[in-house]
Amino acid sequence: MKYFLGIIGGGPAGYTAAAMASKAGKDVVLFEQNALGGTCLNVGCIPTKTLLYSAKQYFNATHADKYGVTASDVTFDYAKMVQRKTKVVRKLVAGIKMKLNNEHCTVINAPASVASYSPELITLTAQRSCSDSGLTGEADLYEVSNLLICTGSHNFVPPIPGIADNPHIWDSTSALAATQLPESIAIVGGGVIGMEFATLYHELGVPVTVIEAMPTILPNLDQDIVKVLRDKYIKSGITILENTKVERIEGQEIYLSGTAGLTGTISANRILVSVGRRANIEGLEALTDLEYNRGAIVVDDFMKTNLDKVYAAGDVTGKIMLAHVASRQAEVAVGRMLKTIPVQRIAYNAIPSVVYTNPEIACVGLSEAQTAELYLGDTSKFTVKSIPMTFSGRFVAENEGEMGLVKMIIDNKSQSIIGVHMIGNPCSEFVAAASFAIRMGYTVPEFEQVVFPHPTVSEVLKEIL
Ligand code: NAD
Repeated sequence: MKYFLGIIGGGPAGYTAAAMASKAGKDVVLFEQNALGGTCLNVGCIPTKTLLYSAKQYFNATHADKYGVTASDVTFDYAKMVQRKTKVVRKLVAGIKMKLNNEHCTVINAPASVASYSPELITLTAQRSCSDSGLTGEADLYEVSNLLICTGSHNFVPPIPGIADNPHIWDSTSALAATQLPESIAIVGGGVIGMEFATLYHELGVPVTVIEAMPTILPNLDQDIVKVLRDKYIKSGITILENTKVERIEGQEIYLSGTAGLTGTISANRILVSVGRRANIEGLEALTDLEYNRGAIVVDDFMKTNLDKVYAAGDVTGKIMLAHVASRQAEVAVGRMLKTIPVQRIAYNAIPSVVYTNPEIACVGLSEAQTAELYLGDTSKFTVKSIPMTFSGRFVAENEGEMGLVKMIIDNKSQSIIGVHMIGNPCSEFVAAASFAIRMGYTVPEFEQVVFPHPTVSEVLKEIL
């Protein structure tokens, strides 16, 4: 049997593509070597958010007095939190399995690789699996007309001496698997993963040190927003060492060198290394002419690679490593393959991103620095508005002692909104309104006509205009 579409990888890109193409009546085979759902569902977004929610419950209970609530003897059981996380993940994986089953998509639970390529026929090979004993070692061959590569990414291990074979080193996957909290943790890399784990451990009472090589944590975000988080975290007891490099690690000892940070040694029971991720490109060797850029697959605006009938979506394209980008890329790729659906290019200027710190950060579009760069420093071409989140009554009611911040960047010529950056709970829940405005090219007068429910924190998007 020749399948219309073969998909390697069952994460947000892979399962979205599989469901969409199957729903359109096409024969689809999807290969996943681990559980369906990929990094996001199994060892990324969902497990971290589940644990962060447990940590927030504990943290809020222990800080409830500011709301007139006294909770004494509040304790937690980390192993139970981890158990719940596993349950949540299993439930969602089962949901994806059921969805693909309902759409009659063939799912092969085995690692696949490309066996041969021509624009007329692509063959894939996967080890045969038997339900009880796993893989048998024998390989099956699958013929497909189109190929979608959604193999995702893996944690990058930097070439720091002392990381390999060090039992104190964690990556995000081992941190999520641990059923016991570390006595103390040093986090190498103050990016998104680093700051989310810093939040988790800090809220559960673990001493946390963040080591960031760049002049600032979360270097890709609007720095006014980052400042609010940094100030709060430092005040609450997290040690943040910016401009600081790790020279080597020996057991629990971390040797640092820094221009503005500490130079010397710090010690931590666990060392979480979160310095970025790299595309998974194993198993694609038969695609000899496939084009890569810095280890990621190059795709056009419709997710097609330089090879006919070969598409890629998600982290493996190295574009923006976010689950919601991966799903959208998959929709665009399948839309292009099917040809029957009008396909729009992905609006990368309107992709929201969230950092699940406490308070949360949510952003979409250009930051002030990026806009200034775009306009070559001509500040007459754009307007930056900013207000504290306390302009929202609901925010004041529910965030005792917090300020929060909202920034909006407006293009002066078109009057359109080109960037929105926020810190304050629960901004992740309404950043989509800003994404929508940017995606649709709303001008300020148009956005002013939108009615926001009162009292909600989302009203800050209107207050700021
Ligand atoms: P990242 O690129 O966000 O951050 C890595 C950080 O490590 C950077 O700040 C970088 O300057 C720093 N760094 C690099 N080398 C270093 C070194 N030797 N010493 C100290 N610091 C060093 O990468 P990440 O946090 O690993 O996340 C990986 C990907 O996963 C990102 O694309 C991220 O957006 C995505 N992700 C998203 C979410 C979310 O949407 N909430 C959550 C987790 C991860």
